[in-house]
Amino acid sequence: MEREGAVERFRRAIRIRTDWPENARGKEPPPEVLEAAEAPLRAFQDFLAVAYPRFFRTAEHWVLNPYALVFRWPGASSGAIPGPEAVLILAHYDVVPVEADKWSADPFGAEIKGGFLYGRGAQDMKGNLIALMEAAEELSIQGFRPRRDIWFAFGGDEERSGLMGAQTMAAWFAGRGQRFSWILDEGSPVTINQIRGINIPLALFSVEEKGFLSLELAVDQKPGHSSRPPRVQAVALLARALLRISRRPFPVRLSPTVAALFSHLTELRAQERGRTPRPWAIALTTAILSALGPLVAPILALGFRKDPQILALLCTTVAMTQLEGSPADNVMPSRARAVINLRLLAPWSVDDAINYISWIIGDDRVKIRVLGFASSPVPAHPEHGRERGPGWEEMAKAVRAVFPGAVPIPFIMTAATDSRHYQKLAGGIFRFSPMRLSPADMSSVHGHDERISLENFFLAIKFYTTLIGML
Ligand SMILES: [Zn+2]
Repeated sequence: MEREGAVERFRRAIRIRTDWPENARGKEPPPEVLEAAEAPLRAFQDFLAVAYPRFFRTAEHWVLNPYALVFRWPGASSGAIPGPEAVLILAHYDVVPVEADKWSADPFGAEIKGGFLYGRGAQDMKGNLIALMEAAEELSIQGFRPRRDIWFAFGGDEERSGLMGAQTMAAWFAGRGQRFSWILDEGSPVTINQIRGINIPLALFSVEEKGFLSLELAVDQKPGHSSRPPRVQAVALLARALLRISRRPFPVRLSPTVAALFSHLTELRAQERGRTPRPWAIALTTAILSALGPLVAPILALGFRKDPQILALLCTTVAMTQLEGSPADNVMPSRARAVINLRLLAPWSVDDAINYISWIIGDDRVKIRVLGFASSPVPAHPEHGRERGPGWEEMAKAVRAVFPGAVPIPFIMTAATDSRHYQKLAGGIFRFSPMRLSPADMSSVHGHDERISLENFFLAIKFYTTLIGML
């Protein structure tokens, strides 16, 4: 791989502004606004064709719309002889908006400082997408042919729920009767020093994904002058509802994925104290934890009650994000309104969670409404919790080759990804970003000064090259 060229192409990708412009964020923007917003997405698709000519000649590709680009890299076994099932790799080329004045670098300048490339999308996720394309181009130049079909599906609206991109592509695959053995999407990284007491790098394979639900809670009342307030006020009713929600958190639960995670952590702690790891001990602890899940989960939750990151793995969380009353200090609001954002842990479906919240509030003057796109949790493939099953071996092998010493462990993705739209098409899904990141590195995602080290960019290229080489 020619490193300088790869970095240059990465920088060009960052400079194409695929953040969705402010004026197009409304429900149905006027046609000319929509067209202007879609132009950079098309420009990004065109850029890939120019930057990766050999891969474009090797693979078939389809531009379904500005938000959907699909590739099929034909495997040696496709056709008459049935071979191993196809694999699908997902990425997205849209990015979240920026507050440019809070950045120390131009968010779309792709500046390189101190070994880091700065720019919106550096981590989420043009870094992965470009690393994947670099790997594909290089392998195409070498004349590599995978054993099975490898598909790529790139979306242009992941940050807006993937309704035009991922959903269109998933429907397109379903229409062709195309299925996949497993899927790889963006997700958790190889972490360092993320979990207390563990210094071994952990490759977090998020094989399960939490659901997403935003609810508006609203109480209406007659507007009027604040000199004559009614006895029961909308804001007070709303406040009482919020208080009830905060006093009744969702029950904790130990999913098989989290049981496996905890037994690994126990074992790795022992290992760091000088004892040798015993795979059977991990299996045994996992089995015990799974069996005692209902008993163990509350104890774990108690132990980790000050650790929001661990708590998020154990229950459905409720974040109170928006609150609104009157626009003036001396006017009664006609409506008091709050928004809560839930991340649903299986088995809580969207409907179950709405029923639970409405039961806790217990007051039908508080109107509950779903905001935007809601999705129920995506459970793990049953084998993935036990560290086997479709793709596990190849993924683990590639991790060990690229991140020496890193231990692959099952994990839960607490954010939503495009892969949820593809869940019916595959045996299992990995949400994993092949980069070594500390908690500080990760905090720039969706924040200010998003950046990625060039070292990580090269590691990602190596990971995809190694992984695809095995498929
Ligand atoms: Zn992303």
